[in-house]
Amino acid sequence: MPTTRNVAWDGRLQAFKGRDTTLYVTTAADLAKTCASCRVPLEPGEPVSLLVDITQSAAPDGTEYLTFTDSVCHRRCSGPALTVRQTPWQPETLSPVAARVILTQKSDGGQARVVPALAFTFVPVLSFREDGGELTSALVALLLARGFQLAMSHDYAAILEQAAEAAANCRITIAPGGLLRLRLDGEILYREQLHPANADDAEWLQAAANSGNILVISGDNLNITETGLDIRPAARHGTLVIGTVQVSGVGTFASTSRLREQRRTP
Ligand SMILES: [Zn+2]
Repeated sequence: MPTTRNVAWDGRLQAFKGRDTTLYVTTAADLAKTCASCRVPLEPGEPVSLLVDITQSAAPDGTEYLTFTDSVCHRRCSGPALTVRQTPWQPETLSPVAARVILTQKSDGGQARVVPALAFTFVPVLSFREDGGELTSALVALLLARGFQLAMSHDYAAILEQAAEAAANCRITIAPGGLLRLRLDGEILYREQLHPANADDAEWLQAAANSGNILVISGDNLNITETGLDIRPAARHGTLVIGTVQVSGVGTFASTSRLREQRRTP
């Protein structure tokens, strides 16, 4: 039974993850907050086991797709495990997880620039392999092929410095009712209904309208929860992808909301 740091894992995982195996193991353990079996919070460094569920499917073009769903247990609650299931090809089973934040960038002159950011990923992580080659992240590969960049740091100041515009065929549109859509080559990759009546959503929409660009933070291993966004595991794993995307449509929203505000003010 191989053990990396405090994490025991099933040796068959190596056949799927190759040289990324130990990084995958430690990243999964770092992301886990509670034992998947007894639900007691995990203490740093205590002996744990990694349990991985892999699904395999073949796309019509013959490419092999794999999803990895993992959980972490106290060693006393469960030993390491690995299950592999063959599933029909159905890429739409992935669910997005997202967070929206507003970042501030200070220029040399001391001026502050407000940058709206959209962070999203898909669960479980989808990987593919062509002709028995290296395992590749489907989302990371898709975004890098459209002009997004691999972020070298989890530091937001460095990300704002590095982020460049994605390919011209990447667009974000926001409908007057608040429906946000990110399209690559006309295909919708991500959609979310924002609520202009909600103060947080309204503030973010206003920032998007003022800026005309949205910083997209994506890739695999983004830790997005109800309470926050942690991009350190993604940066450590080399799967953090960034890029700025032009936004259109939001101006319409912003002007109508300003109009409403003016009417409310006596
Ligand atoms: Zn436990």
